[in-house]
Amino acid sequence: MLRGALRIIPLFVTRPAVTIVIPLFNEEAVLPELCRRLAAVMDQPSDCGWRVVLVDDGSRDRSVELVHAYAERDPRFELVELSRNFGFQSALAAGLAEARGADAIITLDADLQDPPEVIPELVAAWRGGAEIVRATRRSRAETGIRRLGLDLFHAVFQRLSDFPIEANTGTFGLLGRDAIEAFHQLPERHRFFPGLRAWIGFVSTDVYYDRKERAAGQPQQTPRRLIRYALDGVFSFSHLPLRLLTYSGVFIALIGFAVGLFFIARRLLGVEIAFIGFTSIITLVLFLGGVQLIGIGVLGEYLGRMYDEVKRRPLYIVKRRAAVPAPQETLARD
Ligand code: UDP
Ligand code: MG
Repeated sequence: MLRGALRIIPLFVTRPAVTIVIPLFNEEAVLPELCRRLAAVMDQPSDCGWRVVLVDDGSRDRSVELVHAYAERDPRFELVELSRNFGFQSALAAGLAEARGADAIITLDADLQDPPEVIPELVAAWRGGAEIVRATRRSRAETGIRRLGLDLFHAVFQRLSDFPIEANTGTFGLLGRDAIEAFHQLPERHRFFPGLRAWIGFVSTDVYYDRKERAAGQPQQTPRRLIRYALDGVFSFSHLPLRLLTYSGVFIALIGFAVGLFFIARRLLGVEIAFIGFTSIITLVLFLGGVQLIGIGVLGEYLGRMYDEVKRRPLYIVKRRAAVPAPQETLARD
């Protein structure tokens, strides 16, 4: 009788539901440590109702099997399987949709570059009044070309974007309920999460952490994907490339006009027209041809993205969800 009553009591205590969303793709090497460290964080005394939504983005290794095994032992873990590899941003969107009812969502990479131990600080900052908490890198472990590319992207994006993002933030962070709802109003297909997070507004704050190397395995975001992601960031948040084209067109036309005036003046003054060399003509033709092709390319970037938006295909397809326990069961068990 008493035990029964004790089991029911937690049902009437409202606890903030915090869901941790993790996209994963071929992460068998880090999964055991990830789950262990997440469980350790969730086991710390707190009044949050935890849930972890792992979104498998079409892994071809044993990731699904490992998560299944873990979820059977610890029902706070859930698995959502996508029908193929849709890419990090789509997998993240799938996770956000699955976690929609939560009071707060924490977005995290699977590779432990975003240390789960920072999660309590994110939650504390949220409860302190921030609707969006960005985990901001105090330091970065990447080196070499990857590091150079990341720094270059942030420098360019900072200048181009109408909604600049902090140079040292990525997807790691927390969204409160209002921010989650705002996210669900964003219909676009080409998604650049940090930019969208800056776009929706709300009171934001930063929590600082040191970004490590990935704990194991290879980066799953290939350089090609990262470049596409960076281009998405630029083209979704800025019209400046189009404006630059207009400016360069005006500039080249002005030069042409000035050259024209120069030759008319020479003619009127009776100066003989000297033959302009082959080299200068070929240089001009190639230069202008290049500028025009770049212009068409930039237009194409916008047009291709518009075509994708117009098609309105879903961002991802869910293949299977591991059975989700009823909310009462989850609460009563805790
Ligand atoms: N990821 C994904 N789908 C992909 C590529 C990556 O879900 O197609 C996940 C990956 O498992 C990891 C996160 O996205 O949890 C970030 O990937 P990664 O660490 O390879 O990228 P980086 O740290 O270079 O941004
Ligand atoms: Mg990583």
